[in-house]
Amino acid sequence: MPAQLLDGRQIAKRMRERLREARDRLATRPVRLVSLEIGQNPAAAVYVRNQRRAAEEVGIDMEVQNLPVGTTEADLMARIDELNGRDDVSGMLVQRPLPPGIDGRHVQMAIAPHKDVEGMHPANMGTILYKEPLLPPCTAAAAQQLIVETGMDLRGAETVVVGHSEIVGKPIAVLLLHHLSTVTVCHIGTRNLIEHTRRADIVVVAVGKPGLVHGDMLKPGACVIDVGINQGADGKIVGDVDFASAEQVAGFLTPVPGGVGPVTVAMLMRNTLRAAGAEV
Ligand code: NAD
Repeated sequence: MPAQLLDGRQIAKRMRERLREARDRLATRPVRLVSLEIGQNPAAAVYVRNQRRAAEEVGIDMEVQNLPVGTTEADLMARIDELNGRDDVSGMLVQRPLPPGIDGRHVQMAIAPHKDVEGMHPANMGTILYKEPLLPPCTAAAAQQLIVETGMDLRGAETVVVGHSEIVGKPIAVLLLHHLSTVTVCHIGTRNLIEHTRRADIVVVAVGKPGLVHGDMLKPGACVIDVGINQGADGKIVGDVDFASAEQVAGFLTPVPGGVGPVTVAMLMRNTLRAAGAEV
């Protein structure tokens, strides 16, 4: 039997409806998300468009600030500082990729932790070790949400996270540890990936290599969360999991596009509302 698809678009839609209600409860309190972008990048343009749509639906004012090509790290820091001090700004994010000469970590550290709606400030990342922070990293929170949606018992479940990046792999692993999953993290140094993935009840793949994980690397019935976003040979967006073969083996599977991506955007909206004081 082919895998049950985890429809991220539907899940995100339900989340936005719930978020809209939370926003309405804030009544006249401003909820504003500022997006900073240096120059114009076609990939970022797609993200900004999706974020803008979601913000509109939820009732968040989204302000897009385009900084000119040639903006230095000091210029960007000054702009972030100004936004940190603006009472009407609930949260901000800086669109990636950043131009050469601007250090992503410096940028994350400059954003006030309570306005860090991407959940990437060391204060928010660090809190993950204690518990789920108020503002968790959006993609990691989205992957967690998709797994929870399956209704699987996470306690004791063998979970393999492939990829150990700061913004995706590591925080996902820690979030799933809070559910008492038995978590293994695989990465570029892992010797025999298939040995790990084959025994996993849950596989989360966040690498950036199309087709890295295919059906014969999976345990029948496994829940497979594909975080990857890659440009396929024909120009189409594909994930890190070979969908056709995985679908025949997995119990649950996220499509790409339409899986983790939309839920990540919904998490950004949730974090923005939380930053504005909403209980959601
Ligand atoms: P990254 O480049 O920072 O990290 C890649 C990770 O993959 C590293 O931990 C590396 O050790 C591991 N890796 C590389 N080759 C490997 C191999 N052969 N076997 C096992 N592990 C290997 O990537 P990232 O920023 O975490 O992004 C990963 C993917 O997720 C990308 O495709 C990115 O576009 C996508 N992404 C999606 C979302 C979303 O919202 N859906 C958000 C962020 C990133």
